Amino acid sequence: LVKIEGKGGYRFFAEDLNISSAHRVRLEARLHRAVEKQEFELYYQPKLDLKTKELVGMEALLRWPQNDGSMISPAEFISVAEDTGLINPIGQWIIQQAIEDTLKINAQRQKPMQIAINLSVRQFRNPALISTIAHFIRSSDINPALIEFEITESMLMDKVDEARQAMANLRQLGVQLAIDDFGTGYSSLAYLRQFPVNTLKIDQSFIADLDDNDESSKSIVNAVIGLGVGLKLKVVAEGIETEEQMNLLSKAGCHIGQGFHIARPMPFDQLLKYG
Ligand code: C2E
Ligand code: MG
Ligand code: MG
Ligand code: MG
Repeated sequence: LVKIEGKGGYRFFAEDLNISSAHRVRLEARLHRAVEKQEFELYYQPKLDLKTKELVGMEALLRWPQNDGSMISPAEFISVAEDTGLINPIGQWIIQQAIEDTLKINAQRQKPMQIAINLSVRQFRNPALISTIAHFIRSSDINPALIEFEITESMLMDKVDEARQAMANLRQLGVQLAIDDFGTGYSSLAYLRQFPVNTLKIDQSFIADLDDNDESSKSIVNAVIGLGVGLKLKVVAEGIETEEQMNLLSKAGCHIGQGFHIARPMPFDQLLKYG
């Protein structure tokens, strides 16, 4: 909550994640410098096939290391990067780096590993996105089916026709599409069928509540998995923190799992040595 002193006394604004405006201005300046100096890193979180327990993919997660050894969470700076437009150069770097790393890890593995890359709303709406991605695919010679872009429900429901067109353009490139944080937005199930998506990613809030003694949490998760399977989509659960959650999800027919119980996001070098 930011308190702004005006003529009529105080007004209160609810701001994103309670970042005060002074903090935000500082963050903006530092973000500009971070882009210039290429201070970002990509971490990767493994994704497992819940039946075979084999590694089948990884999600690229942006990290911004600080001088004191700490990291600023993307949850904090992505919205600032969005507002300033810095997300476009950052996003390009993410896609390029993720493709390079995917080619590297696939060169040393038998089974293909897919890469999931998050797109923010401004990237998704950027008319130049398609040609940028097409360029990276061509110049790297990666099989586009190895790339999955994650977009959230709210990005789809805002301007539905435009969103559908953007998705169709992406699919035309041969890449896959996932709906991230599924269940937290307000998309109608009727729309879901019309969007050319390959994957549903159940939001981690549903998984966090999941335990064997909680019938309602189990019903919700079962219903979402049933929906995904019924629509012939790949179903991914994120935020798996216990063995019990992993087993329940596997029994319920969820295809792929991701979470701290399996592995935390890690630097690429560490991923190369993982499983
Ligand atoms: P997301 O795409 O839904 O990513 C999942 C988040 O959950 C990640 O947080 C991940 O580290 C965290 N997570 C994974 N497993 C567990 C678990 O078992 N328990 C809990 N509590 N958390 C888990 P992270 O890396 O802080 O990213 C937060 C959000 O920031 C992401 O949510 C995504 O929306 C955004 N983001 C991250 N990287 C990028 C990026 O490269 N580009 C864009 N546009 N957005 C990104
Ligand atoms: Mg994601
Ligand atoms: Mg998510
Ligand atoms: Mg999330």
